[in-house]
Amino acid sequence: MNQTDIYLDHAATTPVDPAVLEAMLPFMSARYGNPSSIYAVGREARAGLDWARATIANVLNCQAREIVFTAGGTEADNLALKGVAWAHRLGGRGNHIVTTAIEHHAVLHSAEYLEKFGFAVTYVRPGRDGIVRPDDVAAAIRDDTMLVSVMYANNEVGTIQPVAEIARLAHERGITVHTDAVQAAGALSLDVQALDVDLVSLSGHKFYAPKGVGLLYVRRQTPILWQQSGGAQENNHRAGTENVAAIYGMAVALKTAYRELEARNAHLGALRDRLIEGLLERIPGTGLNGDARCRLPGNVNVSFQGVEGETVLLNLDMQGIAASSGSACTTGSTEPSHVLSAMGIPPNLVNGSIRLTLGKDNTAEEIDRTIAVLVDAVARLRRMSAVSAD
Ligand code: PLP
Repeated sequence: MNQTDIYLDHAATTPVDPAVLEAMLPFMSARYGNPSSIYAVGREARAGLDWARATIANVLNCQAREIVFTAGGTEADNLALKGVAWAHRLGGRGNHIVTTAIEHHAVLHSAEYLEKFGFAVTYVRPGRDGIVRPDDVAAAIRDDTMLVSVMYANNEVGTIQPVAEIARLAHERGITVHTDAVQAAGALSLDVQALDVDLVSLSGHKFYAPKGVGLLYVRRQTPILWQQSGGAQENNHRAGTENVAAIYGMAVALKTAYRELEARNAHLGALRDRLIEGLLERIPGTGLNGDARCRLPGNVNVSFQGVEGETVLLNLDMQGIAASSGSACTTGSTEPSHVLSAMGIPPNLVNGSIRLTLGKDNTAEEIDRTIAVLVDAVARLRRMSAVSAD
């Protein structure tokens, strides 16, 4: 098996930062206690958990008790949608959810699950630029709408959604607002007061913390029926012994990401633009998917006319370059990207698309090498399909 030399799939996951790993290790050795235990080693674990909660609350500009730790972004999204929906069912009011056609499957499949129980869901489509219009969200709102869920930044095309504007118009109608900020974390402000949202999902492994840890921010007074039954952890909101080491690591990673935000974004933005320009200039028949400016600093999503994205990715892999064709969860399946399709991109270009997502440790040399490999691969694949069409 060949190895990965250039990793360009940071939207799928990021490596754990060495400093994060080091900060976590004591919670798997000397500070091993259960944070719910009253004796010394338990209190040490509790202190770590409390520090993590306070540190993250500081980044989100919220109260520490408004943070509920979860086992990742998927659980946070499930909890937000199902928790709010079931609370409204119990309360006997509100049966309708507005979300978008470009959400991650953690939101889309949660919404589809709720439809099976009689909830109604409207899926607002984005424009061709991959951005959802607040007016379209407003038009989808009904008298019985109880939840609006719009992602902050898209995981496939990196487009940034006007969440604060959407939240304002939803709140004017007394509707709860959730945003999946999993891809935005570490790149965009997570100030929940400025965003004006009630629920925010985050996932540690997108910002150099481990996989399997995340959180849901829940503004006080938000109607929500907690989904996990068991012990009294997380203030009775999410039963199960907390993964203290991972939570601690997530807090360290988030704090570092926001301390270094400007420098990281400037570095990523420069590499992204170098990659986009290189591909558009040197490979004819290449198109950028998603708005060029209103996108995450590390996201490049392009379509090559006349080639299969999956084949391009295999060629990249053979050269030690890791990238993907969209969300990692659908890689390996033949389903075309629901995001690109919802944007109205024709099926042949959807099939010819690849996603390259950059990270803080990528270099300009890596970008130049990737461009060179893609120039060769796309030209070769086009020649081969021209021959086989003869
Ligand atoms: N939401 C978005 C936008 C994502 O990109 C992802 C992961 O790719 C998730 C949710 C799910 O997060 P996790 O992998 O932590 O379950």
